[in-house]
Amino acid sequence: MVRRLCSIAYLVTNKERNLVMQPFDPAAAYAASRHTFGEHGGVNMSIEASSTFTVMAASTMPAIFAGDRTPDRDGCFLYGRHFNPTVYALASELAAFEATQAAYCTASGLSAIGAVITQLCNSGDHVVASNTLYGGTHALLGEYLPAKAGVHTTFVPISDLDAVEAAFTPKTRLLYTETLANPTLVVADLPRLAEIAHRHGVPLVVDNTFCPIFITPSRFGADVVVHSLTKYISGASDLIAGAVCGSSELIAKMMDLHMGSLMLLGATMDSRIAFELALRLPHLPLRMAEHGRRTLEICSRLEKAGAHVRYPGLESHPQHALIRSLANPGYGFGAIFTVDLGTTQRANTFLERMQNQHHAGFIAVSLGYAETLMTCSAISTSSELDDASMRAAGISPGLVRLSLGYTGTVDDRYEQIRESLQFVGALG
Ligand SMILES: *Cc1c(COP(=O)(O)O)cnc(C)c1O
Repeated sequence: MVRRLCSIAYLVTNKERNLVMQPFDPAAAYAASRHTFGEHGGVNMSIEASSTFTVMAASTMPAIFAGDRTPDRDGCFLYGRHFNPTVYALASELAAFEATQAAYCTASGLSAIGAVITQLCNSGDHVVASNTLYGGTHALLGEYLPAKAGVHTTFVPISDLDAVEAAFTPKTRLLYTETLANPTLVVADLPRLAEIAHRHGVPLVVDNTFCPIFITPSRFGADVVVHSLTKYISGASDLIAGAVCGSSELIAKMMDLHMGSLMLLGATMDSRIAFELALRLPHLPLRMAEHGRRTLEICSRLEKAGAHVRYPGLESHPQHALIRSLANPGYGFGAIFTVDLGTTQRANTFLERMQNQHHAGFIAVSLGYAETLMTCSAISTSSELDDASMRAAGISPGLVRLSLGYTGTVDDRYEQIRESLQFVGALG
């Protein structure tokens, strides 16, 4: 299944993947993957609340430690930081959604990202990454890993494919991007980025947190897909969680008892959290479709009213055709959109008007909640970037990012946003 290149064995060819030309429905793939009953025949999976597992024959232990007997092979579990049956079942369902061979669930999105990068890179290695990333990821690549691990990153505008190509060095071990950049909503051209990465013999790693269900990066050549499950996939803003989706070989390497970043840095998920998340996956496609339907409707109306709105579902978005070519039909284009209000002060007035006057949402970081969450990116989720990085990424001081919820009526929500924009003089 997996082609070996430059000793990095996580590249799956499009022929092997054999999917790209056929339409893909993640909800159908998920439904087909669901075969976990509870311990007593329950319709929900059981919570396996054990940190350690017995064997019938003591002589089985060495084979489990060597990785020869696994949850997949012989149903062998060892210890909760390694694999847990409930976490494992959730991971299998996420792998089905993302059309990857395997997945592993982690304590947070950032721990999933850190584990992937430290697995693929040794000290002295190099990463090529988009210059517009979640603030924590930007700090991890730009500050933490150079200091702590000697892994250095060149940040490039991800839609400038020549710049991406030119940034590669013989030490480059991965190409990293977000499907939809936070908060500029630049769409990554996944097929062409995969082509560049693979030509250099390295995997394309994609953070798909903004686009669950409606974009499936593995179908366009992404070798590893990471998620913050904290956002849409949880959907309730009540927990922190993440996942790594990729080849079985990569996940096995990350679980290696000697050199596995997941095993040794210990960022595993608790089984109780895995159970909570498993209950929410059946309605994730419904939620995404409704998020997308409402956001497109409201953004279209705001645009007509003269607002500087940016949403990839709008035809005015410079990469609308690209996102259309990437999107699985029927699930829309997500709930994240931005309005540029020019100055941070106007942005703050708008946010307070929305929250305190209209009760139209919360001034809060994060996204993918049932209610609208909104922030001024420059002073919040992108504040890890210095001024030059902020400018390079195209984040203006008055840029407001909204993650539209699905409570209330579309008419009411539109009117609340429109009035708040008008209040700060941002219409027409
Ligand atoms: C929130 C987020 C992360 C980090 O996830 P946590 O679950 O908070 O650790 C990474 N990438 C993106 C795009 C995010 O939105």
